[in-house]
Amino acid sequence: MTEDDHKTAWSECLEIIRNDVDAESFKTWFQPIVPLRINGDVLTVQVPSHFFYEWLEEHFIPVLKKAIKTVLGPTAKLEYSVIVDSGNKSHSPIAVSIVNKPTPSHANGYSPFAKKQATFLVEARLNPSYTFETFIEGDCNKLARTFGQTVAKRPGVTSINPFMLYGGVGVGKTHLAQAIGNDIVRHSPERKIIYVDANEFSNQFLNAAKDIKIEEFQNYYLQADAIILDDVQHLEGREKTLEIFFNIFNQMHQSQKQIIITSDKPATMLKNIPERLVSRFKWGLTADIQEADFETKLAIIHTKVRNDGVDIPKDVAEYLAMSVDTNLRDMEGVLNSLVLHATLLKRIIDLDLARDVLKNIIKEIQTDVSVDYIQKTVAEAFQVDVELLKQKVKKREIVIPRQVSMYFCKRFTQLTLALIGQNFGGRDHSTVIHALESVEDLMKADVNFRNKVEDLTRKFKSRMNP
Ligand code: ADP
Ligand code: MG
Repeated sequence: MTEDDHKTAWSECLEIIRNDVDAESFKTWFQPIVPLRINGDVLTVQVPSHFFYEWLEEHFIPVLKKAIKTVLGPTAKLEYSVIVDSGNKSHSPIAVSIVNKPTPSHANGYSPFAKKQATFLVEARLNPSYTFETFIEGDCNKLARTFGQTVAKRPGVTSINPFMLYGGVGVGKTHLAQAIGNDIVRHSPERKIIYVDANEFSNQFLNAAKDIKIEEFQNYYLQADAIILDDVQHLEGREKTLEIFFNIFNQMHQSQKQIIITSDKPATMLKNIPERLVSRFKWGLTADIQEADFETKLAIIHTKVRNDGVDIPKDVAEYLAMSVDTNLRDMEGVLNSLVLHATLLKRIIDLDLARDVLKNIIKEIQTDVSVDYIQKTVAEAFQVDVELLKQKVKKREIVIPRQVSMYFCKRFTQLTLALIGQNFGGRDHSTVIHALESVEDLMKADVNFRNKVEDLTRKFKSRMNP
């Protein structure tokens, strides 16, 4: 046996694997593997991270098995050596050490580690209805939309990298950013797009850091062809998360991967974000979305109802576009509510109905029991941070107060289920229905819980009728 046997064996394996997987996977998952040694018929290879190893195990076992057995014979085994994050809390680059994980001698020999869940593993999760087709062009967003289309056509290779998109609440940032992602995937389904809200990104990172899996966390993002980081302002002041994002940003940018970032303010206005990162945000192109003008609102209303197969008279559309001046998300909520009322009450959609529906919604804004008040009061009663109720945190101690808050929103405000959902991290109406049912069930099952809910009920009632 010569010194380079392992290299030869592995390159033969690669030739076989190359025919079995697509070019992108080959590049991402097989090229980084380094053959280390061969011992009898056990080939040891080095993989960059534990996450990487898990990914191979989950997706490519048959492919690996076939290659190894073809090259080294039927009893051949593959052993992984993993570079892991040493847990050193030092600054970048992250310190690494090599840990050998010997293959146990069980039958198939491909599972040197116990199966562990990669908790931060999330899929692209693009909303399929957020496309360019459904994103109505208007003066308020024309430039941003056009640049977005350019990015979608040639992701990573134009000078629009990163693409920074900023604008106020509910103006269409998420919709447009996801439209880019959806468009890329539609034309090149093999491309990996990761959409992530900055809060979620930060939580994933903190979890990864706790489990000493920072390297895996980074690698997860680095396998993407494009990343959409939504609401980057949520990273303000989060030093460690910013640092890791800085790393990911640099590496992706260097390898011509597309970076799309949304923000509620221009890069220069972001606070507590290191200057070196802010200056990188300015490398590409920044476009803003303004609050929707009257014409755009009208066009959005008409398109939306047309897609839903309903008809709405011009004067009603104009009335809505004029009356809801907060943002497009609220306008959609009112519109949905209007259509729902018409269906339930079997009334035609006219100005009278529109006025009725809007009156109710405005009453909600005027009553003292607002969504904010409910969230604040419930959070206090359950001793949790009110901000967590508005996020997608899935811990039980948060889920229950969140469901209780939704329950009270349904009882004490005039909001539609969809609008209630929007106030709790953008959930849809079915989640709200589920929350209402869970609260009812829990009240039957748990007397303490019921007492708590009843106490809160009295509190809200007294506030409504002082
Ligand atoms: P942001 O992320 O800026 O807060 P969103 O992207 O969530 O706003 O938009 C709020 C709602 O308004 C979404 O339902 C979105 O589909 C809709 N919307 C925004 N802009 C447009 C547009 N130009 N055409 C159609 N719908 C839009
Ligand atoms: Mg958004």
